[in-house]
Amino acid sequence: MPEGPEIHRAADSLSAVLTGRTLTRAWFAFPELKPHEKRLRGREVLGVEARGKAIVTRFDNGWTLYSHNQLYGQWRVLCAGEEAKTTRSLRVALETDQHRALLFSASDVELIRDEDLDQQPYLARLGPDALDPATTHDDIRAQLINPRFSGRSLAALLLDQGFVAGMGNYLRAEVLFDAGIAAHHRPRDLDDDIRARLANALLAIPRHSYRTRGVERIGAGMRADLQYDDGERFRFRVFGRDGKPCERCGTAIVRSESAGRRLYCCPKCQQ
Ligand SMILES: [Zn+2]
Repeated sequence: MPEGPEIHRAADSLSAVLTGRTLTRAWFAFPELKPHEKRLRGREVLGVEARGKAIVTRFDNGWTLYSHNQLYGQWRVLCAGEEAKTTRSLRVALETDQHRALLFSASDVELIRDEDLDQQPYLARLGPDALDPATTHDDIRAQLINPRFSGRSLAALLLDQGFVAGMGNYLRAEVLFDAGIAAHHRPRDLDDDIRARLANALLAIPRHSYRTRGVERIGAGMRADLQYDDGERFRFRVFGRDGKPCERCGTAIVRSESAGRRLYCCPKCQQ
């Protein structure tokens, strides 16, 4: 499943072609959304943004499109008149005179009145979003000492969108490695310094992943370490590197299963 950085990039590319533009056509595969096709024609798109792993597209008629890609959904941006070469099924089309924003394969799509948006069940339970510039270290530290979360293992928490939104499986492994913490610990077992280090990593690693957008320059000697995510470069330090040497201490990276997902760590650096 795409994680926060990939969803935020998708929202950026939608926003670039939709925000401030007038819709010439809206189309929905879902019968219950058909009445909105007429309502949205001729309306302006006020903005597109990611919230956790969902994308919300706001229109100037008081309605917002909520979509969550789950495992298979995918947004694509094409030029007007261009057809998508795909066997995936089209679920949503938002078109301007210049572009087409097409959502394929997603089933989690709703149109919601602006004033009801915060009550949408997925959005309502999101914790602070690591990729929201307004989210601070204090916000993350407050989550870490919140009794709702402080007694659960980091392995589970770092996949929970209610704890920190936008996290996911590769980010979990990379954040824990960056902070030098083993996944079985609970926030309440950590001392203040280590909690602060973890809060730092919970913001820094997702933001780094988002920022590099696959264009990080890496020396030729490190090319073997490159991993690709959705065709884009992101250099993992532990994720997918089982058996390879830890860049800090040389110990072989270990793969395990945790909370039903694969987890990678350096057994020496993460204790
Ligand atoms: Zn190590």
